[in-house]
Amino acid sequence: MTKEQPSGPSTRSLHGGRGRHPHGGLAPPLFPAAVNAFGSLEETIATFEGRREGTLYARFGHPTGLSTESRLAALEGAEDAVLCSSGMAAVALTLSAVCRTGDHVLASLEQYGGVAELLHKVGADWGLEVDFLPLEALGDLGSRMRDTTRLVLLESPTNPLVRLVDFRALMAGLERAPHRPVLALDATLATPLGQDSLGAGFDLVLHSATKYLGGHDDLTAGVVLGSRDRTAPIRERRRMLGANCDPETAWLLDRGLMTLAIRWERQCANALELARRLEAHPKVTRVFYPGLPSHPHHELARRQMRAFGAILAFEVQGGFEAARRTFDRLRLIARAPSLGGVESMVLHPATSSHRSLSEAGRREIGITDGLLRMSAGIEDVPDLWRDLEEALA
Ligand SMILES: *Cc1c(COP(=O)(O)O)cnc(C)c1O
Repeated sequence: MTKEQPSGPSTRSLHGGRGRHPHGGLAPPLFPAAVNAFGSLEETIATFEGRREGTLYARFGHPTGLSTESRLAALEGAEDAVLCSSGMAAVALTLSAVCRTGDHVLASLEQYGGVAELLHKVGADWGLEVDFLPLEALGDLGSRMRDTTRLVLLESPTNPLVRLVDFRALMAGLERAPHRPVLALDATLATPLGQDSLGAGFDLVLHSATKYLGGHDDLTAGVVLGSRDRTAPIRERRRMLGANCDPETAWLLDRGLMTLAIRWERQCANALELARRLEAHPKVTRVFYPGLPSHPHHELARRQMRAFGAILAFEVQGGFEAARRTFDRLRLIARAPSLGGVESMVLHPATSSHRSLSEAGRREIGITDGLLRMSAGIEDVPDLWRDLEEALA
């Protein structure tokens, strides 16, 4: 019952996916049932065998989740979406579905901390060999590949410096590679609206739905998107490993998705304006935001992204002490270790998101002690700016 997919982002956020629900309600229904009941043994068997439409047991899949998945697939322009219990579950299920013991994985050095930890620890448990590459090396992936390279797992834009993988260079380099591994991209910071990850050539796109997709800091979920032949083994592992998202969370996420486009538009606009003002502030030595011409990936962002995003980072003059003072003096902007919600948040990467790295490791990717990262929310810019100015004073 999929209707024709609308093309504008706001319309797609609202009307993407399934048609109107059979009971006629304008809002999507929530079916909390964890178990389904059947009229006969034949009906039970037919459902188990997939000959009859319907769900069996919520861990396998539930109607509320299917509806959220179809909205997510419409937003990303994907054939299928697999909703799961967190962004980390999305990464773990992808690893489990794609890789076998002895396989080689190429990942970017600039990676969400939890994903790096998973690749190190669980990767070792599963007998995977993982190499972490700087973004600059990704244009010549062929020279880093082995016969056993099965998966390339990247993130773009990255956190906290909002640097980008050059998709065109990556795909061109892969044409020269001896074989084609599975390409997966964590596009959490771009959302499905900020870039066309599947169109760029990735096989699988992952998002932490805890961030922009949910958007209100009140749910934990994740999603993997791609063609049905790629997502089928991920869906199977979701069932076996028990990593589905429960119906209430799926429903809340679906509700959040309806306003994704307007939240994202406002958050991107706020980030650009704050980045410009911070760049002109005497106490700020450097601002990292791809919408600023001073960002090393500004031109790449203009070519590759539909929006510059809502994450920015800035270096406060005076190192750790100055960053600590600024951080502690914020009154409106939350001191919170996340991103993407409607409320603006700031974190100190060196002591939070990137604390597991050594000082040298942080230096390698450009994270200094004076760096603060901000996730722009939907507040009014004058209020956000007053808070930042007073904190920096
Ligand atoms: C938050 C985040 C994750 C992990 O998502 P959870 O929902 O917290 O499990 C993965 N990748 C990126 C880029 C993130 O920001």
